[in-house]
Amino acid sequence: MTEPAGDNPSDPVPLLDLSIQFQSIREEVLAAILRVVESQHFILGPEVEALEREMAVETQSAHAVGVSSGTDALLVAMMALDIGPGDEVVTTPFSFFATAGCVARLGARPVFVDIDPVGFNMNPAGLEAAITPRTRAIIPVHLYGQTAEMTAIGAIAEGHGLPIIEDAAQAIGAEYHGRRAGSLGAMAALSFFPSKNLGAFGDGGMVTTSDAALADRLRILRNHGFRPKYHSAVVGGNFRLDAIQAAVLRAKLPHLAAWTAARQRNATLYRQLMAEAKLDEQSVRLPREVDGCRHVYHQFVIRVDAQRRDALREHLAQQGIGTEVYYPQPLHLQECFAHLGYRRGDFPHSERTAAESIALPVYPELTPDQQARVVTAIAEFFRAGR
Ligand SMILES: *Cc1c(COP(=O)(O)O)cnc(C)c1O
Repeated sequence: MTEPAGDNPSDPVPLLDLSIQFQSIREEVLAAILRVVESQHFILGPEVEALEREMAVETQSAHAVGVSSGTDALLVAMMALDIGPGDEVVTTPFSFFATAGCVARLGARPVFVDIDPVGFNMNPAGLEAAITPRTRAIIPVHLYGQTAEMTAIGAIAEGHGLPIIEDAAQAIGAEYHGRRAGSLGAMAALSFFPSKNLGAFGDGGMVTTSDAALADRLRILRNHGFRPKYHSAVVGGNFRLDAIQAAVLRAKLPHLAAWTAARQRNATLYRQLMAEAKLDEQSVRLPREVDGCRHVYHQFVIRVDAQRRDALREHLAQQGIGTEVYYPQPLHLQECFAHLGYRRGDFPHSERTAAESIALPVYPELTPDQQARVVTAIAEFFRAGR
């Protein structure tokens, strides 16, 4: 008998290890890939259509449209709403770049609303003031696997007749008062980037919607606006999903519920271990589960004093423990958005969280022993007064 991976005290604890998961479903995934190779049907087609049906069920949406990435899902969703120059789209500055990048790529203007530091998501209290006559859509992000405050955001959106596009790239399987991420707005963007909770073997994404007309438009736009083939009434692009990616995702999807449960268990164990190690709020602030939200722990993000954050990461790295900062630079301070005129201090919660947060390993295959090593290393750091 060999020891389980990672339980030797000198083994590294990576932030993410995709190979353990692959080994556990190797035969199913290889059979799925072989099926596509034998069919020689590589783009869209029956595998993509089957995945679309399965993901529509998974997200409690009527329609799902497979696309080339989570980024392209956001882009094509906004294209479906005809968003372009002169338009504004309200979103959060504390997200992955693509959320605002896609707005800018369409010639529209990203307008930011600060986060609520408890849930790390768009604070509905700031939303009303960000809406102008030029606003065309609102993009709340379900960061780290927990949904934004959709009741309050939805009420404001509805009051202004504005569509919501959920950025659900990190939140497949997350729920808000029993409703799935992906079904909480007019459209939602999902990502199958390999490190996401449901990851492909390359890039992939999906737009979900319960509006049949939008679904139809998305299908046209993802393939150069063709309808029929080689006749374009609208300008689309190549945002198609590969059949191999769809087949891999279909092999993985039946395991997602168990992987999500494992992430949630890991989060619970971290809380327990941190309490046992007497790590109090002064040292480490743990992520909170907002009332009514089912968190799927794409990331388990703690907050520590900004002065000591990088030293703690360094200490963990020396012990072979992988961490990451999602994300170190809020979007309103990105150089490419300088022309928007935002300044440091405009969104204090986003800026502060960017300086204080650390993502710890939380992937499903992480062992209790590895988690204990992570917490012991953190406790050592604070005990040494570093
Ligand atoms: C990953 C991610 C995206 C982009 O997805 P890709 O598939 O990498 O293009 C967009 N928004 C958020 C919040 C993400 O985490």
